[in-house]
Amino acid sequence: MDVEKLKASVIEEVGACRQQLNELSQKIHANPEVAFQEVKAATWLIGYLKKNGFSIEQGICGLPTAFRASYGQGKPAIAILAEYDALPKLGHACGHNLIATSAVGAGVASKLAVDRFGGSILVIGTPAEELYGGKIIMANRGAFDGVDVAMMMHPGVLNTAATRFLACQTLEVEFFGKAAHAAARPEAGINALEAMLQSFAAINSLRQHIKDKARIHGIITDGGEAANIVPAHSAGHFIVRAEDDSYLDELKERVINCFIGAATASGARLQYKWAEVRYAPLQNNLTLARLFRRNLQSLGRRVHLFDPRIGIGSSDIGNVSQLVPSIHPLIAIAPAKVVTHSPRFAVAAASETGTRGLLDAAKALAMTVVDLVANPGIVTRVKEEFKRGSR
Ligand SMILES: [Zn+2]
Ligand SMILES: [Zn+2]
Repeated sequence: MDVEKLKASVIEEVGACRQQLNELSQKIHANPEVAFQEVKAATWLIGYLKKNGFSIEQGICGLPTAFRASYGQGKPAIAILAEYDALPKLGHACGHNLIATSAVGAGVASKLAVDRFGGSILVIGTPAEELYGGKIIMANRGAFDGVDVAMMMHPGVLNTAATRFLACQTLEVEFFGKAAHAAARPEAGINALEAMLQSFAAINSLRQHIKDKARIHGIITDGGEAANIVPAHSAGHFIVRAEDDSYLDELKERVINCFIGAATASGARLQYKWAEVRYAPLQNNLTLARLFRRNLQSLGRRVHLFDPRIGIGSSDIGNVSQLVPSIHPLIAIAPAKVVTHSPRFAVAAASETGTRGLLDAAKALAMTVVDLVANPGIVTRVKEEFKRGSR
């Protein structure tokens, strides 16, 4: 059987599973579970993969809602990543129900490719993308050891094979001052809120002179108790992002200097803590992205290799992409004016357009698996590009 015929078979296979995949997607959408609480979603996805002949390891890397489902043996080992966490209050406003079901749909269809050409297909369940960077923990605990290629699909408002994610780290900051009557004895107080406000002012000034695409943003989580008490404590939560790791390191130091300056000026004591997880930038494997693009285009979608109009955040796939050649394409499920993490996007994730996105993504991912297992030379090229470290 040649490659084109096999691609037609995997397309047919995804089509045949349409109803089951849509039901699974709707069920996950209707039962949103946030980071590390994705018990139902993981159980349903595992059940589907098991029923279709996959071997399951559940609760891998010490994370109860993470899993690895595998089919076939040997090389290349191709992983399709499934996210299934929802957002607090907003439900599936990032459409991870579609990521999860496109991954299992692609995994099951890819069995045809593995049966014909060898290699193995893994569907790796990666919890808590939104809040805790589950893949970072999994990457650090060896979940991607022995994996040759990692792919996934994320719903969006454009079709693109490559996207961009920034390196990023979050920061908790506290200032400790001294309470006093704000009118009767203001001279006796040390104002922790003013220290926080000065930090914001310093960061706003810094922001004028940082590189394009770098981002610094924050909120105040404690600004005092009452207007007639000099605030003895203030707290904030900040995120610093940059296009590459070395600029992130530089920026982190400059941001901390803003807080140190404010502490000195106000007399409040500064305490801060960087988050343990640090998001790496996404290294796109363009060899892989071009293959995926061609496959998705053959299904009748117009697909950009990369579209600069897409907004850039950060995602834990970045850390996977530093270990294994990876792609994180986007598939359009809503009009361009609809933003992710909004109620309208949550509606789109359960719509007919959403289902079309999940099916096309499953097909294109499985077709890309066909390319990889049928042509060892392509896997070599993918790996060579990865070693060169191109984006
Ligand atoms: Zn997402
Ligand atoms: Zn999201």
